[in-house]
Parts: sequence; C-alpha cells; structure tokens
Amino acid sequence: MIRVEGSVYRPGDPGYDAERDGFQLHGQHRPDVIVAAAGAADVRAAVEYAVERGLPVAVQASGHGLAETAEGGVLISTRAMDGVRVDPAAGTAWVEAGARWEKVIAEAGRHGLAPPSGSSPNVGAVGYTLGGGMGLLARQYGYAADHVRAFEVVTADGRARQVTPGDELFRALLGGGGNFGVVTGMEIGLLPVARLYGGGLYFDSTAEVLEAWRAWTETVPDELTSAIAMVPLPDAPVIPEPLRGRHVTHVRVAYTGDAESGERLVAPLRSAGEVLMERLGDMPYTESHTISDDPPHPHAYAGAGTLLTELDSAAAFAVAGPSAEVPTVLQVRHLGGALAKPSPAVIGHREARYVLHVVAGLDDPDTPGGPGAQDVEAVRAYQRRQMDALGGVGTFLNFHCGPATESEVAAAYDPDVYQDLRRLKATYDPANTFRLNHNIPPASA
Ligand SMILES: Cc1cc2nc3c(=O)[nH]c(=O)nc-3n(C[C@H](O)[C@H](O)[C@H](O)COP(=O)(O)OP(=O)(O)OC[C@H]3O[C@@H](n4cnc5c(N)ncnc54)[C@H](O)[C@@H]3O)c2cc1C
Repeated sequence: MIRVEGSVYRPGDPGYDAERDGFQLHGQHRPDVIVAAAGAADVRAAVEYAVERGLPVAVQASGHGLAETAEGGVLISTRAMDGVRVDPAAGTAWVEAGARWEKVIAEAGRHGLAPPSGSSPNVGAVGYTLGGGMGLLARQYGYAADHVRAFEVVTADGRARQVTPGDELFRALLGGGGNFGVVTGMEIGLLPVARLYGGGLYFDSTAEVLEAWRAWTETVPDELTSAIAMVPLPDAPVIPEPLRGRHVTHVRVAYTGDAESGERLVAPLRSAGEVLMERLGDMPYTESHTISDDPPHPHAYAGAGTLLTELDSAAAFAVAGPSAEVPTVLQVRHLGGALAKPSPAVIGHREARYVLHVVAGLDDPDTPGGPGAQDVEAVRAYQRRQMDALGGVGTFLNFHCGPATESEVAAAYDPDVYQDLRRLKATYDPANTFRLNHNIPPASA
C-alpha cells in the first residue's frame, strides 16, 4: 500500500496507460506500479516503497528520453509537478520535476529572460538538464547544467536533500542523468535574452550543402549557435509546398546579436545551394521553438549519436542522404564556444566540435506495418555501424535515444570522472535502484 496525495495505478487500472504514455512510443515501460506524484512527499513514499521491496525505480516527466525497455518496478510520473516560479530580481527560476521548457520559457519571457532550453519546448526541463542540456544558445552560454544553482532530490535512502554547489552530489547531477535520485525541483539561472535573430534556410540535401555549412561554422562568433538537419519529407499537405516530397537540409540558426549583423553572418550560407524556403528574422525568445520545428506528436523512434572533433561531410551525408540504407533524419550541432570551456558539469569531451545524431522512425504500435515502418533491430544495427564508422570521441547521452550499453554510457564522460560517478553511485544508490536509465553502475566494494 502506498499512501500518496497523487494517484497510484497498477496494470489494468483505468488511467494506467494514459499516465505511462509519453513522447517515445517505442519500448514503453510496463511498471508494476505507477505513482503519479503530486509533490516531493509522494516521491519519497514511492522511493521508500520500491526500496523496501527491492524494486527498480524509473522516472518520467515527458517521455522524450525513455532509455530502457523495462518490465515491472515502480514508475514515478512527475507530470503533475509542473510548477515554475521566476524571481526576476535574482534572474532565477525554480522549476519542478515535471515542468516542460515551454512553461519556463513563457514565465521567464514575461521578464525579458530566457532559460537554457533546447530545440523542443515540450522536453522536460529537469530531465534535459540532468543530461547536461545543449540549448539553442549553447555556444554562448554553455550547457544547461552550467546554470543550475540548487537541486532538491530524493535519494535511494528516502531522504529529501537540498543539494548546492560544494556538495559532492551536486556535481554528479550536472550531467549524471537520473542515476543519483529523483530530482523534485531545481533552481536555475536565467539568461539575459529576450529576443534573437534566427530561424532556418532549407536546401535540397547534398554533401556540398553539408560541407558549406561545416566550413561556415568555422567563421562564426560564439553568439551564434547553429545546427543542420537532413530530413526525408513526405509528399503530404502538412509540409510547406516548396519542401513537399523532397529530401531537405534545414540549416538552423540562433544568434543573440542584432538582426542586421545576423543577416550579414548568414549571407555566405545562401550560396550553399538553391534556397527552397527561408524562415529567418528577429523573434522573441518565446518563439524560439520555430527554429528547429521539432515534431510535437508522440511517435516511435530509435536514435544514436556521437561527438566529433572533425566533421567529414561526405561520410555524414552517406549516413542519411537520399540513398541511405535506412531512411534517417540526421542532425549535426556546432559545438565549441562556452561548451568547450571547463565547468563543474561532468560532461566529457569538451574538445568535440560537433555532435551528430541520427533518428529513424519505427513501426508505429498503433499502425504496425504502416508507412515508414522499420524493424528496430535492423535500425539499431545500422545506427551502431554508422556511428562506429564515423569514429567519434564519445557520446552525448541526451542524444542517445533508447538503451545504451555500459561502454556507451561510460563514453559520455572522461574516464576519471566516470570512476568518480561510479564511486558516488555506490555511496548514494548502492543497490542501483535508479537503473532504468542511462545507467552508471555503482563501483564494486
Ligand atoms: C524532439 C526532441 C528534442 C530534443 N532536444 C534536445 C536539445 O535541444 N538539447 C538537449 O540537450 N537534449 C534534447 N533532447 C533530449 C532530451 O533532453 C532528453 O531526452 C531528456 O532526457 C528528456 O527529459 P524528459 O524529462 O523530457 O524525458 P523523460 O523521458 O520523461 O525522462 C528521461 C530520463 O531523464 C531522467 N529524469 C527525468 N526527470 C527526472 C527527475 N525528476 N529526477 C531524476 N531523473 C529524471 C530519467 O532517467 C528519465 O528516464 C531532445 C529530445 C527530443 C525527443
């Protein structure tokens, strides 16, 4: 029996599926118990219940980062804990476990401020930040984890702890994912950003466009963060007419300088190929979701990624271009700037200059065998092969959609940091209760 203010669901209960369903529809967890937490006390009760019975605990806010297909255990759903409180004088926000970036963006925007949010406003702020968090303005402001001031976290011993810089657990939470406890809220510093110049240019996908973007990234200031996405688009009415049915390359730009210098900076890109469509201009940060235009609807997908010190445009093009073996969306983000600087966050491989990741749609559980259906094992094998061939220096786990092997998780950190994280895991979660994630196993005694 779990006594909570929120709700408890078991398989077969009305509401079980609705509480469990998130953005990722592939490999959904089938827990024995779902605790839809109303607050930190419910999280403590759920953790205590699980630990007493030796059950693993998973945490879900939005389901954008589902890492492990699991049977059984306890799922703590933080969806209802979505409070956001901005302190404009301090330039900070208190963000509860289940709040999505869209709410933080709206609240901060009222005061001319912005959070270190990423391409999709539907992603959960806490889960994103625990994975490091690579935002739209990352080259100027670093990782989201670099902006955390405090966490409230329930650890495996059932204690609710306030964790601040100086506590050994603080650093582990800046990139160590959900391994060390359930974060019930965090305080973050907001960015002094009310507007930006940004948006996108669309081209037909060619290796030349990719190479032109790569060469251009070497010329831009840290105030400009950009990415490129190669996307096979369907011939469907929802797609803007100039892009319909084409394999397009979408160059995405976010620049905090004025519009005039933004236009000047972007100008050389226009000669990369014929511009099929353009959406660039000055915008309030509250419109920043239009830059990447990520899909908002839940679907089934698998993805993998790698951090690169060099981008071989021809090789990257072959992974996801029109004649790729598996229809794939490829994204490359330009790193460097503040991302390359040391910070307390445990994120490794600061020398990487690009992060590349691929995503492929999977057989939709609602329409098995439907259009775009692809077999998960074949897709994962393809993605692993391609990532190995690109020869990256490590992984950025936020862009690793789905289960990661122990070595893929280890490859997200510098080796000595990883050993430190394993030691801290042994201190704070020796039974590995929080293992349904990109798991860092406890160091053996
Ligand atoms: C469309 C899309 C766009 C994205 N864009 C970006 C981007 O621009 N930059 C970037 O860095 N990442 C990005 N991501 C990756 C995203 O940040 C991660 O998938 C992140 O884990 C999502 O967190 P969530 O809470 O929304 O997802 P969930 O699936 O609900 O949670 C993912 C994991 O985070 C952990 N977690 C979540 N909440 C808590 C908590 N309160 N306490 C402890 N652990 C917790 C758990 O391990 C959980 O399994 C994107 C993902 C998608 C699908």
